[in-house]
Amino acid sequence: MSNMKTEPEMDWSQLFASRTALMTPSALRELLKVTSRAEVISFAGGLPAAELFPVPRFKSALAAVLDQHGGKSLQYSITEGLPELRDWIALRFSTPRLRIAHENVLITSGAQQALSLLGRILFEKGDRVIVENPTYLALLSAWRPTGVEFMPALCDARGLRVEKCRPLMKRKPKAIYCVPNFQNPLGATMSLPRRKKLAALARAHSMAIIEDNPYGELRYSGRALPNLLELDAPERPGSDFSSRVIYAGTFSKVLAPGLRVGWVIASKPVIEKLALAKQAADLQTSTLNQYLALELVRQGFLEDFIPVLRRHYGQRRDAMLEALDRYFPKSARWTKPDGGVFLWVTLPPGADSGHLLEAALNEGVAFVPGGEFHLNGEGKNTMRLNFSNMPPARIEEGIKKLGGLLRRGVNSIS
Ligand code: PMP
Repeated sequence: MSNMKTEPEMDWSQLFASRTALMTPSALRELLKVTSRAEVISFAGGLPAAELFPVPRFKSALAAVLDQHGGKSLQYSITEGLPELRDWIALRFSTPRLRIAHENVLITSGAQQALSLLGRILFEKGDRVIVENPTYLALLSAWRPTGVEFMPALCDARGLRVEKCRPLMKRKPKAIYCVPNFQNPLGATMSLPRRKKLAALARAHSMAIIEDNPYGELRYSGRALPNLLELDAPERPGSDFSSRVIYAGTFSKVLAPGLRVGWVIASKPVIEKLALAKQAADLQTSTLNQYLALELVRQGFLEDFIPVLRRHYGQRRDAMLEALDRYFPKSARWTKPDGGVFLWVTLPPGADSGHLLEAALNEGVAFVPGGEFHLNGEGKNTMRLNFSNMPPARIEEGIKKLGGLLRRGVNSIS
């Protein structure tokens, strides 16, 4: 009837930049879609326990912000972040040896943006960066499109094996990325001697250290260790801040991840470049959320909330460790983290945690297979388990189901 010509369909694949080929979907994101269903016992994401968020306190802090700052809190603000919040962070991280000024602080939309911007200002094709193997998945997604080559470094229960990094220095990596406290995904903490060795190694080879510390405050056992930023501080007290460490912090795990407020502490030239990259990325972090975070911390929110988190997450960690002992086959091993939100299970060689996941999802239990976090195709027999997001009884139920599957031979182990 109609002789209207149909328009040819747009072939988007012809238009995408070649770097998009390096942007691969993460299985974790796909998995999280399934695990948002309330009936699923999820050990998959790194989610805080939403039922612990003190919502009334957020509500009154938000009202206080709007009362005090009115339209200013809804307006654009400067790229580097609210000066008062930068000051607060500078003060919180300063020590007698480490004098951080607000020029050394940039507020970002979560630590993830800090990492992503760092990739943009530091790396191009032909560059190399050392990363713990296994490492944080979204770091790999953020940096892969830059063309940087990842050099995997070995880890054990005491974190990065710094000695094993020495031979890698021949290839002149620009930086090393590490999560020294309760690492994602291992749950391991880098020992003090290794921290010192890493700071010395970086100094000897003019290498930057990117220290990512989202979980540091969530310690349930053992003593807090100095971070690399402190260890790299100049011997001479009182000198201006200058460091080879670039520190990424966040309010995601101690206030709420939905705020999307994080920060970088670094030498001024780094902050200046990052601010240029940030301006191009999103102009600034949400003014309202920065005011809200500032109001909460000024009210002493962290002093009240961190102990609550430590108590609950500590109980959840213990519940998971006890359930693993009770229900998992003797041939499996796991880390015993002093903090954070993850632990790491190693099944015997030959086991495939991907197969286990398929069977587990049918029983309503989710986790992330460990191969995902590796750079060199290893880790098929490993899995990452989150313990912060489920109450102890559901943790026990979920681990019992996983243990049952393992014993029934889903991975032909006993
Ligand atoms: N680094 C690590 C190691 C993480 O596990 C996460 C999030 N889980 C982030 C950075 C990013 O955190 P955010 O962007 O929420 O601050």
